[in-house]
Amino acid sequence: MLQYPNLEQALKYHFGYDRFRPGQRQIIEDALQNRDLLIVMPTGGGKSLCFQLPALIKKGLTVVVSPLIALMQDQVEGLRNNNIAATFLNSSLNPYKVRSREEAILSGKVRLLYVAPERLLSERFLPFLDLVKEKIGIAAFAIDEAHCVSEWGHDFRPEYRQMKSLRKRYPDVPTLALTATATDRVRADIIQQLGLKQPSIHIASFNRQNLYYEVRSKSKSAYAELLELVRESDGSAIIYCLTRKKVDELTFKLQNDKIAALSYHAGLTDEERSSNQTRFIRDDVRVMVATIAFGMGINKPDVRLVIHFDLPRNLESYYQESGRAGRDSEPSRCTLFFSFSDIKTIEWSIDQKTDPQEQLIAKQQLRQVIDYAQGTVCRRTIQLGYFGERFPGNCGNCDNCRYPKPMQDWTIEAMKFLSCVARCKERFGMLYIIDVLRGAKSQKIVQNEHDQLSTYGIGKDKSVDEWRMLGRSLLHQGLLEQTSDGYSVLKLNPLSWEVMRRQHTVSLAVPVAQKINWEEGSEKAVEAEILMQRLRSLRKQLADEQAVPPYVVFQDSTLKLMAQQQPTTITEFGKLSGVGSHKLSQYGDKFLTEIRAYRQEKGLLDPPQVNFTPSISLPSDTEIFTFQLHKQGLSVDEIAKKRNIRPTTIIRHLADLIEKNQSVDLNQLVSLEHQQKIWQVLEVLGDISLTPIREQLGESYNFDEIRLVRSKWRRENRK
Ligand code: ADP
Ligand code: ZN
Repeated sequence: MLQYPNLEQALKYHFGYDRFRPGQRQIIEDALQNRDLLIVMPTGGGKSLCFQLPALIKKGLTVVVSPLIALMQDQVEGLRNNNIAATFLNSSLNPYKVRSREEAILSGKVRLLYVAPERLLSERFLPFLDLVKEKIGIAAFAIDEAHCVSEWGHDFRPEYRQMKSLRKRYPDVPTLALTATATDRVRADIIQQLGLKQPSIHIASFNRQNLYYEVRSKSKSAYAELLELVRESDGSAIIYCLTRKKVDELTFKLQNDKIAALSYHAGLTDEERSSNQTRFIRDDVRVMVATIAFGMGINKPDVRLVIHFDLPRNLESYYQESGRAGRDSEPSRCTLFFSFSDIKTIEWSIDQKTDPQEQLIAKQQLRQVIDYAQGTVCRRTIQLGYFGERFPGNCGNCDNCRYPKPMQDWTIEAMKFLSCVARCKERFGMLYIIDVLRGAKSQKIVQNEHDQLSTYGIGKDKSVDEWRMLGRSLLHQGLLEQTSDGYSVLKLNPLSWEVMRRQHTVSLAVPVAQKINWEEGSEKAVEAEILMQRLRSLRKQLADEQAVPPYVVFQDSTLKLMAQQQPTTITEFGKLSGVGSHKLSQYGDKFLTEIRAYRQEKGLLDPPQVNFTPSISLPSDTEIFTFQLHKQGLSVDEIAKKRNIRPTTIIRHLADLIEKNQSVDLNQLVSLEHQQKIWQVLEVLGDISLTPIREQLGESYNFDEIRLVRSKWRRENRK
């Protein structure tokens, strides 16, 4: 095994991240113990790192099984940009390329190999794998998208079934199975089908905290709202529609409104689809309008907005599709537009099904989607409940939690509605009843002499949409029934009569108009946004030069940090989360130049630098090493032990680092109270040696504390 002082350092070095996401560390420790693992994490949870980091630490080749060529290429590109030796073998390569990659593998140069399952188990490949095992060893098999082994999953692939033979052939190579699919049945199937041995099972919460969930009613202004959402979001967006036709129409409208949008559906040729997809991933266009054919295997981490313009089929698909937003954990938005006519369309298509069992399931699933869309409780509670996870609510990041809908008493309106149903002899559907209530002069109403009813025209004060909302809610609350013969005739039940007799009140959650502004635009934020745009174009340019997606160069979160903190030295730059050793040397200078140029144009003075104030020098290598460990939260004694240096030397490093303008966390080292007292003495006595200061302060103060605070005082008083 390669030796790192600790896992955090390995993480920073290779991937540039400061800390592990929940669960990652434990999983990696288990993997380093050669345990079999089942890892269930939501999309964007950070599954890949769980096998990638161990692959860099362990001896031998890690073989990753992945079902889709696009996914493999993505991951390999990302790894290479961190200077990690990874490669893939699949049907897109010619024999010559395959041979040269195999040679590289056998020479031990490759840490991670991505393969498709059918290749892995082919007669030509297995003997090669034997050779790899003999010559350089196999560190682990990582089975990505492991739910593909299960017929119960939504994405069954028969090739995955044969994976068990791998286990038989290499019983001592640990296997990791990874999936984002949540149900118990699929999990059990994975363990069984892959023959995992006493696997350590990690199931992360499916709560995606960074996603804002909201449901809007699909009213006449829906397109305008959609356009506003797209304009307001600064980043990529996916808009899902039910049919190809709707996709094409919406794309056309958006393009007319000067939005860079493309479409994706089964009606396009393979080339068109793949070219549109690439242009979306590379940020050449911002918006993809698509049927649900789009998304599987798309790894784009910086999608900021996913809109469902039509109702999704079931909650599981809604979770997966909306979950394509914000894989990088940055705040992102998931909006569902909901309309009653959509329900009608889906109900109609359910009625076309011939298998009664299928029909039943589809109806139940539709019910759950409606429950979600019409629910007034926290959206997360409903979603996570669907996966068997209890969530207490009050997430603060869904529409229902942010803008609780006021409950209103609609008993009177309900009485009007129900008695109208009664007077029409329970023979009509909702729209007809609403027409009668609102006093419509349709031929049918006149023919039926329903314009003579006492309920005719008593509901003019409410709009069609409002009556519909009430009608739906009555159905929903079980205060009214509807036939399921395709005609949806409204029928009364005993509860309906209770309402009409005033024995039952009816409350309704009334939607409130939502403001779109959900991020405050302080002046500072606006400034950062301007710089951010410049950094974005630089990133795009660098990405295009290498023909990779921009996020492979730096992720949005890292760009954001650059814009906010505006580092001006390479040391500061290297500390940003997302900047690993390789990216620092590859891109550091270019981004620094851009940031400096921006600051200069803005008339912002650079913080003291070598060329301006010769008295301040850059930290030495040994100081930087100490600094890195300090940044990881290690105490002085721990750093001393790790580096095999005396603690006083570490203190000297830290003190010098403070004077050299590095962001040492003084609070971690000296109590606030002591800092204040020492500071006061320095203000009085000035910059003098440590002993007289200590005399002034007394025995309870030690020299180390005084030295550290004095350095800060010196730095502040130098100007
Ligand atoms: P999954 O496969 O679970 O959907 P990924 O492995 O693609 O998720 O990771 C999602 C995103 O999170 C990637 O962009 C990845 O680089 C990033 N990521 C993973 N681990 C960390 C971490 N510890 N700190 C910051 N970002 C991380
Ligand atoms: Zn909520």
